[in-house]
Amino acid sequence: MSQDPNCIFCKIVAGQIPSKKVYEDDDLLAFHDIHPWAPVHILVIPKLHIASMVDVGPEHQALLGKMMTLSPRLMKELGVTNGYRHLINTGADGRQEVPHVHLHVMGGPRPWSKG
Ligand code: 5GP
Ligand code: ZN
Repeated sequence: MSQDPNCIFCKIVAGQIPSKKVYEDDDLLAFHDIHPWAPVHILVIPKLHIASMVDVGPEHQALLGKMMTLSPRLMKELGVTNGYRHLINTGADGRQEVPHVHLHVMGGPRPWSKG
């Protein structure tokens, strides 16, 4: 399915839950994490509902590549100049809390509250 009506990030995509948006196009949405670990902590998500990296297939190659290549541009626009961290949590042992693929991108001056 392209959207899951019970998924919190699908609801953010649909505008049913507000978010502090950083970027949006036909395929992707980026917004500030509600509980940031770092001075700048954004989530880059596909608009398509993909529950986790376990569900990713070759058909998602361009989409995931787009997420990775967009994020440096967004960090630059957000004024992050001294490096950042990419993180994707997968499944229970990966401590994934929201079952919709998301790329955490965290940066800004240390110390951070986590990570
Ligand atoms: P996970 O542990 O699944 O990799 O990370 C989920 C992230 O989503 C957490 O960092 C959490 O703070 C963030 N998050 C959860 N619900 C919301 C929400 O409603 N809005 C925003 N902006 N972030 C959320
Ligand atoms: Zn979803």
